[in-house]
Amino acid sequence: MKPIILSLLLFLTFPALSQTVTDPDKKLEWWGNPDGYLNQQAKVTLNLADQALRSAPPSVNDPVIRKMAYLMIDNVSHEEKAPLQPAVQDFFHHRIAEAVRQIQTEKVKKGAVIWKLYNHAFVVKTPSVTIGFDIQRGMTGSEDFMLSRQLMQELADAIDILFVSHNHDDHTDMVFAKMLLAQNKPVVTQADIWAGSPIYGKIMHPERDANQIQKIALPIKNIELQIVVYPGHQGADLQNNVYLVYSPEGITFLHTGDQSYAADFSWIDLVGDNHRVDILMINSWSVYPKHRYEKGYRPRLIIPGHENELGHTIDHREPYWLNENRLGNKTDFPWVQMVWGEKYHYLPKNFRQV
Ligand SMILES: [Zn+2]
Ligand SMILES: [Zn+2]
Repeated sequence: MKPIILSLLLFLTFPALSQTVTDPDKKLEWWGNPDGYLNQQAKVTLNLADQALRSAPPSVNDPVIRKMAYLMIDNVSHEEKAPLQPAVQDFFHHRIAEAVRQIQTEKVKKGAVIWKLYNHAFVVKTPSVTIGFDIQRGMTGSEDFMLSRQLMQELADAIDILFVSHNHDDHTDMVFAKMLLAQNKPVVTQADIWAGSPIYGKIMHPERDANQIQKIALPIKNIELQIVVYPGHQGADLQNNVYLVYSPEGITFLHTGDQSYAADFSWIDLVGDNHRVDILMINSWSVYPKHRYEKGYRPRLIIPGHENELGHTIDHREPYWLNENRLGNKTDFPWVQMVWGEKYHYLPKNFRQV
């Protein structure tokens, strides 16, 4: 076959690939500008990763193109200066802005749609309610990395309630909490968070009790949520609330915060015996031998979080690729890997309780 015919055929067969632009800026060299070079390389890498992720959305069965995209993002975000790079900031801002638009407009008819935001922040939306967990702006020490107040306000407008696990600033954001309180939307936290501040009296601090189902009223929506607040810890001394939230439709979401304390297996081992857990949002770096978390929580689906928190040193930024080692075989405990700003539509009928 003549080369010209072959290339025409390739063009017709793979139109998406033929449109891929590797470097939109077309600059020919970066001599004498190592930071500029690294930023441009990050831009090219993240553009291509973005295209790959869009061509293969989150699923239990990741094609190789998604795995390559995870690794490309891990490589960029484990550069020490990643949060200072405009390319990384743009990638983050664009993806979260798109997620916020989706959260505002998505009509959920069945099951639940889950968005992963920064770090261990998630939004879940069911037909009747939109719930946020550990939402913050991306406080990494780089002002330019943080999401704008305008975008946070739009997100606050779109959710009905916020749960905050523990008193570390990669999980808390008083500015965002105030936006919800101003709209008479509940903010539920562990009791040390924002102690002594003027808003403290408006925050809900339900009892930490593994054996009690508690009710939280959402006055604007005129509905109630049932929750269990498990008395967790990050290490021996820092209290970390692990929230199990029942949506009015009966779908359950379990968010672990930074749970990591062996003595808490006294209640973790029993969670799945007492409740059906649909989605487990687990902090990826906390692992225990022989899948003891998974066997305790017994979730239908796991969505790991806390990857690429750029405020940490690179050894504890937590890449996506380590999740393969940590969460392992998807047959026993299915899990879906998500990147900043991505969404996943969960339908209970597609998963069974372990
Ligand atoms: Zn923490
Ligand atoms: Zn954390």
